Amino acid sequence: MIDIKLADEIYKLIYEASVALPDDVYDALAGMSAREDKPLARELYGCIFDNVKKAALLDRPICQDTGSLQFFLKAGSKCPLLGDAEDSIKHAVIAATRGIPLRPNAVDSFAERNTGNNVGEGAPFIEWEIIPGRDDLEVTVYMAGGGCSLVGRSKVLMPLEGYEGIVKFVFDAVVEWGVNACPPLIVGVGIGACAPTAAMLSKKAVLRPVGSKNANRRAREMEEHMKRGLNSVGIGPLGMSGKESVQCVNIEYAAHHPATLAVGVSVGCWATRRKTVVIKADGGRL
Ligand code: SF4
Repeated sequence: MIDIKLADEIYKLIYEASVALPDDVYDALAGMSAREDKPLARELYGCIFDNVKKAALLDRPICQDTGSLQFFLKAGSKCPLLGDAEDSIKHAVIAATRGIPLRPNAVDSFAERNTGNNVGEGAPFIEWEIIPGRDDLEVTVYMAGGGCSLVGRSKVLMPLEGYEGIVKFVFDAVVEWGVNACPPLIVGVGIGACAPTAAMLSKKAVLRPVGSKNANRRAREMEEHMKRGLNSVGIGPLGMSGKESVQCVNIEYAAHHPATLAVGVSVGCWATRRKTVVIKADGGRL
């Protein structure tokens, strides 16, 4: 069933995510722009910030590709909204597609027809995590653009390939396809036992704020090394060459099988749109 109060909050969340950059992304781009010394790259940062300003002024999404909508829910086991959440999200997505507006980006994979409202088989994507004892619902929306989704991939390596294999996999993906993803990029890396685990962890890594660090010292060092390495490649803003190309590299990991070492990569573009709200048990925003 649709909970109208919850659906309204989800609509607001989608709207807020689509028309403004998250603070961490804005600050990262501002820092990169200030450090840039190539004239064309500086010009492109100017275009990006002009675009952001105009979106705010005109009350419009910051990119024409408003992406495939993906929701990551952390729901308390005592949350009374559990049963209504999925229907309410779909209702909000249909309303937001019409109202904000969002570009209809859900194409039925066999009928090859655009559904016209961003809702279809498995769309929007919804991932659940149940938190014992809580009664609220934390909702994160991520708008996955086509260009940045092109970079995403995962692979199961032989454990012998080790850290070097992980780094090579990530660099090959970003160097080969990163220009399609409108850099400067947020690079999310997932490590685990199998391809879907690594892929999902890499997406969750993109959701982590720019500037946050992995709690594990080795993972943290790897984040830093990979960021430095990718920033020495020279891809630059929008792939037109420049001093820096990635805002950050975030790693999320799980234990791997002794015989497998899976790695996944997902990236967010300069227009990374993600936002989180906590909805109270009565359907209102915290
Ligand atoms: S990659 Fe990002 S900025 Fe580029 S077109 Fe897609 S959503 Fe827009």
